[in-house]
Formats: sequence, C-alpha cells, structure tokens
Amino acid sequence: MDERKPFIAANWKMHKTREEGVRFVEALQREVGVVEDREVVIAPPFTALAAVRAVMKKPGFKLAAQNCHFEEKGAYTGEVSAIMLKDVGCDYVILGHSERRHLFGETDDMIRRKLGVVFQQSLVPILCVGEVLEEREAGRTFSVIRGQLEQGTVNLAPDHLKELVIAYEPVWAIGTGKTATPVQAQEVHAFIREHLSSLYDKVVANNIRILYGGSVKPDNVDALMGEPDIDGLLVGGASLEVTSFKRIVQYQT
Ligand code: PEP
Repeated sequence: MDERKPFIAANWKMHKTREEGVRFVEALQREVGVVEDREVVIAPPFTALAAVRAVMKKPGFKLAAQNCHFEEKGAYTGEVSAIMLKDVGCDYVILGHSERRHLFGETDDMIRRKLGVVFQQSLVPILCVGEVLEEREAGRTFSVIRGQLEQGTVNLAPDHLKELVIAYEPVWAIGTGKTATPVQAQEVHAFIREHLSSLYDKVVANNIRILYGGSVKPDNVDALMGEPDIDGLLVGGASLEVTSFKRIVQYQT
C-alpha cells in the first residue's frame, strides 16, 4: 500500500536573515492555511533555525537543517552537530547536497557517517543523490546513483531505512534553469525504488519518499508531481519568494 505523504521542501541555502526567514514563514502559513495532506519543510541557514522554529505554528510545517557534522562533538571549528540540530528543534537534515559534495569535497563515506549521527538523534535525513552532466551523457546515471545510494545507506537499520527521505537532484539541473523532464525524473525515481527494493525489501522501498530537485518552478511542478514515483520536491531558487513557493506547495495533479 502506498502511504507516502507528499513532501515539499524549501532549501534556502545561504539566503535570509532571521527576520527575513520569520516574515516568510509567517506569510506562507497565513496564505497556505492548514496543510493536512502534505508536509511543508523549510531548511533555513543554521543562524535562522531557532527563529523560524519559533514561528512555525501550523501542523504540517517542519524544520530542516542543510547539513551537519559526522561526529557528535569535538574540536571541529565552524561545524554544527546533529545534537545541536535536535536541540534547536529540527525534524530533518539535508545530507549530501551536490553543493556539499562538489564545492566542499564531501565523500560518500562522510555522508554515511552523517546519516548515522542524524538517526541517533531521532532526526530524519534527506539523502541527496544525483549525477553530473558528463555522467549522464556517458550513460552512467544509474551506476552513479546506485553507488551513492549503496554507500550512503550501508549498515542502516531497517527501522531507520523506512523513514529515510531521498532526493534525486541531477546536478546539471540545480540552479541552471534546466529541469529534468517529468519522464526523465520518473525514470530515475523508479530505478531508485527498484534498487532499494532489491537491496532491502519491497515494503521498505514502497514507504521511502523520493523527492525531485533541480530548477523546480511553479510552471513545472504539477507535471513533476503527477509522476507515480515522485513523492515531493526539494526546491532552491523558487523557494525564496512566498508567491512562487506557495504555488509549489499548492501543486495540483
Ligand atoms: C537545490 O538546491 O536543492 C535545488 C534543487 O536548487 P534549484 O531549485 O535552485 O535548482
């Protein structure tokens, strides 16, 4: 049985002060009203997490961090731990975003360790996977995704695995204005679910929510969400304005 609640997430990256974040979330909640059939997840920068949490009043609205360190604590200047994210009221943590992998040198092994500390704090990771353009053009999309999935989820307990959220974000589509077509995205989402089913089991694979990310906009959201294996969206640029993000939250299929 399919029980995957749609999941619409805003990744603000390095944008918004506390005041801007608070104003956005207050306006979004006012305009969207009660959301019962979908989760709306906001991932502000670390500095705005507490302020945004404090004004999240409506059920259905959840808080995510954009990253965390793979150790619980220690001499890691500039880093933030999963314990701290739990303390500030996060529900989710984005891990392995392509900007972390490609600009900050994060490896699959680091990401796997991060998943472990995040689950230990009863937070839920959003594991990002995706191929770069050269990999797609060389016909290596599935093997790249398979590697990222297997290395990221190795040793996860089945109870944790079924809660995991996965985001397929083709790197060539992030912030470029080039969206994967719904058919291209569906093909990879179906592959991810099939592969999880062969690695673990069908029930677990059918419960895992798989998000699409990469230049999602108000004008492509309905078609993307109409695909059977696209359970939600991770939105960067179009999540910075209330009007466009509200339209994305209110997608119709
Ligand atoms: C992202 O950063 O996760 C993302 C998908 O960005 P954009 O929507 O701007 O492509």
